[in-house]
Parts: sequence; C-alpha cells; structure tokens
Amino acid sequence: MGSEPGRTAAEVRRALRELRYLLTGLQLGGLADWPGSAERIAHNPAVENPTSGGPISLGASPLEAEDPGVAPAPDGEAILKEDPGELLSEVRTEMGDCRRCRLHSARKQIVFGDGSPRARLVFVGEGPGFEEDQQGRPFVGRAGKLLDKMIRSIGLEREDTYICNVVKCRPPGNRTPAQDEMEVCSAFLFRQLKIIAPRVVCALGSCASQTLLGKQKSISLLRGKRHLWHGVSLVCTYHPAYLLRNPAQKAAVWEDLLEIRSILDANAP
Ligand code: SF4
Repeated sequence: MGSEPGRTAAEVRRALRELRYLLTGLQLGGLADWPGSAERIAHNPAVENPTSGGPISLGASPLEAEDPGVAPAPDGEAILKEDPGELLSEVRTEMGDCRRCRLHSARKQIVFGDGSPRARLVFVGEGPGFEEDQQGRPFVGRAGKLLDKMIRSIGLEREDTYICNVVKCRPPGNRTPAQDEMEVCSAFLFRQLKIIAPRVVCALGSCASQTLLGKQKSISLLRGKRHLWHGVSLVCTYHPAYLLRNPAQKAAVWEDLLEIRSILDANAP
C-alpha cells in the first residue's frame, strides 16, 4: 500500500481503528443491515483524509460548535470527582420519594440511572417506558437492546457508560414528557452529568437534545453538529425507539456513533 503525502502515522492508525469498529459492528450482526454504513466508512473523509474536515473528523472540525450557555447546572460549578458514586447516591437520596411533578402518580418506581459513575460516555434518553418502570433500570426493553448493540459497535460495553433519562418517572401511556415536567426533573439530570463529568454526552432523541441545548429545534436539525454542554462534547442522535420504527436512519446514527468514538479517542486518558 503506497503512503499518501501528508498523511501521518497517527492519521493512518485512526483510519485503521475506524475500520476495526466497522468490522466489530459486522461481527455483532448489528451493522450489516445498516444502510450505507460500509460505504460511509469507505468514503469517510476522516478515513480518506483526516485533515479534510469531513463530518466525523477529529481536531479542527468544521462541524458547528455551539455552547448554548443555557440549561445551567444548579451548582454552577463542576463537582470534583473524588467519589462520583457516592455523590450520585447523595443526589438519589435527596430525590427521595419524589413528588415534585405530576409524573409521580402513575409510576411504579423512580428510574434514576445506571452504569459507571466514572463513565467517559453518558447517554441521556427521554424517560422510562413500561419495562424500565417495572425493573427500575433505564433502557432495558427493545430500545435498550438496540442501544446495547450501538454501544458495542464502537468497542464499548454498557457497563463502561452511564445511562439515564431527562425524567425519572414513566409518563402515563409512554407519552412525551410535558415541558414543566422536564424542567423540574432535569435539575437532577444536570447534577448527574456534573458529577460524572464525562468526555461525551449523547442525547438520544428530541427531548434530551432540546433539554440539554435549551433549543426547540428538531433532532434532524440538531444531529450532525458538534455541540457543547458546559464544556462537555454533546452529540445528538435519534432515539433507539425511533430507530426501531425507522431503520432507514441507522446510517445517520452510525455516523453519530463514529463521532462519539472519535471524540473519545481524541481525549484518551
Ligand atoms: S419525574 Fe422527576 S421531578 Fe417528577 S416526580 Fe419523578 S423524579 Fe420527581
């Protein structure tokens, strides 16, 4: 294989790593039917020419960088990470048998969050569904299984991440949470994020994206851009439940997953 002028060893390693993620996804059987994924990898500017500034390139990304400066965390400061697990427990204790919004009335239990308190990647969904309400854990139904597959496709396990929702109680009939419900409950979400202090937050769907960005734009307009939430990289993508109903969007989600992987690799410990 002839080397291309201007391509550094690090860039070649990065390209090979991206191809490895594709092979991982194919081995899982989860990406073989993702339309366009192989083609997108093959023609990904980050693979072909990492300095050309394609949609999932590293470094000086042409992607729109936005720090909305909204949705402030209650404390206004990053919380030190001495024992994030203990700090999360304190938030959960403070939440108690929460009745701060009307969603408390139909829930079986509060679904606080699940995963590593030191996760470098946090997923934020909308709210618990039936299975989550029953089990007390986020993303354990069909959408959760797809999320697990998405996580594995970029070389991680669910346990490496932290998963939570904007609202912690199941909305009756799985309706979309009301604006006032999200405003009340998101105070807990912001504290979770401040405590964990991940490298990347992935907002799954419109509710999570709009809550974190303080914008009412649709998810199709918010994804594909690089955002910041209080200095933390924020990637918006489609909710796995939406993806189950609209498999044609798998290629777009795959791009978003690669963007997440690129940010993690660029900020490797
Ligand atoms: S959704 Fe959040 S704010 Fe509302 S009752 Fe449940 S825990 Fe409390």
